[in-house]
Amino acid sequence: MADLTNPIFTDPDAARAHFEATRWPDGAYCPFCGNFDSVKKLGGKSMGAGWYHCSDCRRKFTALVGTVMERSHIPVNKWLLAMHLMCASKKVMSAHQLHRMLGVTYKSAWFMAMRIREAMRELNPETEEPLGGLGKVVEVDETYVGGKEKNRPLSKRRDAMGGAKGKEAVFSIVERQGRVRSEHIPKVTAATIRPILKEQLLDGTKIMTDDAGAYRKVGRDSAHETVNHSIEEYVRREAHTNTIESYFAILKRGVIGTYHHVSQQHLKRYLGEFDFSYNARIALGVSDAARATKVISGAVGKRVTYQDTNRVPF
Ligand SMILES: [Zn+2]
Repeated sequence: MADLTNPIFTDPDAARAHFEATRWPDGAYCPFCGNFDSVKKLGGKSMGAGWYHCSDCRRKFTALVGTVMERSHIPVNKWLLAMHLMCASKKVMSAHQLHRMLGVTYKSAWFMAMRIREAMRELNPETEEPLGGLGKVVEVDETYVGGKEKNRPLSKRRDAMGGAKGKEAVFSIVERQGRVRSEHIPKVTAATIRPILKEQLLDGTKIMTDDAGAYRKVGRDSAHETVNHSIEEYVRREAHTNTIESYFAILKRGVIGTYHHVSQQHLKRYLGEFDFSYNARIALGVSDAARATKVISGAVGKRVTYQDTNRVPF
């Protein structure tokens, strides 16, 4: 745990400087037109600190433009503290805890947490390393969260379409001794799984799964090179799925234990948070500081989804 008395958590100016240095390691650039050399720092007391001007597109901006923090009235130091707390906590942190620790209203804490989850989410698969690779093993499976079906017998929980009534399907790929990536999908069928595997896996990856119909079908298809040559082999024997089962256990404990209820609309953000903390765990050699930097970087370029999270300015 980093030192919570660090000025970046207590002083807005120090926090802004830290955020700028993390967002712009090579110096400020214009978030509107992308230019470097046209950008000048604005001085003057009337302006307030942290403003820049681009002489190319003639617009003014701060480092927060185009990030999940844009247009927030919460000071940057509180944002950095919230990011730090959500990164460093072994267990997931609820908006209620954040509200108490940051001294902001519960409503603000909830929005902050939602946006930070958005920053944790690996939104863009093209910029993220695919999973697996030659000789590597991944486990794939689905689980269902939400709803009130836990009292129904297992055999009754899934409907004929591969879904489960009142529950949301989560599809995950986990590398053994490695990373995880989860998606909220409408239902689990070969047609929904296939493009995800194709996008997320490197060539030569071995896939372990249970023998559910959808996966069997994908496995059969995989011999066909136009479908997905990254699925080298479908191995049903010795297909233990312990790694993914323990990941789902963490996920469910988190969802039920901390959040009680996760709405369908926001599920992808919670998944982003769970994947993030699993992928950034100490076992993979990611330090607290590196984790926090990753979230700050992830905070950039998420503005569109931030708007759909939040229609209420605060
Ligand atoms: Zn510009």
